[in-house]
Amino acid sequence: MRSWYTKKGSIVTRVISNKGNVFLVDYRGKKILVDSGHKSMNSILLKTLKDLQVDKLDGLVLTHAHYDHTGNANTIFNRYGCDVFVHKNEVNLIARGINAKGKGTTPAMRLMMFLYGALHLKKMQLDPVNPSIHVDNIYKIKNFGPNTYLMHTPGHSDGSLSFIVDGEIAIVGDILFGASKTSVFPILASDLAMVKWSWKKLLNSGCSFFLPGHGDLIERSKIQKELQG
Ligand SMILES: [Zn+2]
Ligand SMILES: [Zn+2]
Repeated sequence: MRSWYTKKGSIVTRVISNKGNVFLVDYRGKKILVDSGHKSMNSILLKTLKDLQVDKLDGLVLTHAHYDHTGNANTIFNRYGCDVFVHKNEVNLIARGINAKGKGTTPAMRLMMFLYGALHLKKMQLDPVNPSIHVDNIYKIKNFGPNTYLMHTPGHSDGSLSFIVDGEIAIVGDILFGASKTSVFPILASDLAMVKWSWKKLLNSGCSFFLPGHGDLIERSKIQKELQG
């Protein structure tokens, strides 16, 4: 389990890394979970949170409506009874347990989506939950640092969100892909042009690095290089 610290006193811990990252953000004892992981990680997630002595959560942020991020949303809500933060474009999808649509962005992914994708996304149900907080462009998180907020970063899906922690670390869901050596471009996208527009927003947030929904930390320079190329 890896943790990152901001100068303002927040701790970001990656609690699950298999089949999709789940992060816990702690600021002076206030705790928010970002994403809930794949359904098959259910008992591991609950046990890990128990081991970390998380007995109260102040919120669950769902970066977007894909089954590998919302697979245990209802479980977390039932266990902790916390607020659930979702972008307004994906509230209905998450409440009904439906995956957001997207197209493959690499030849291999396009072929896979063509052959199995739509069916796969239809079959992989989310763990439906009723979001209590509907986020628009920017949403300031109460009781956290002044520079901690949610920001709309569409492109992977229409309602993708990023969680900016103290203006230093961004947890970005799938708008950046960290599991490939060659590119940080997401392998699935609802709007190709919006992806790069959202990357510029993320760079403008001033964060020094980005924690994606899959794979490892991404530096600013990697995004800047791909924006120029
Ligand atoms: Zn996704
Ligand atoms: Zn994902």
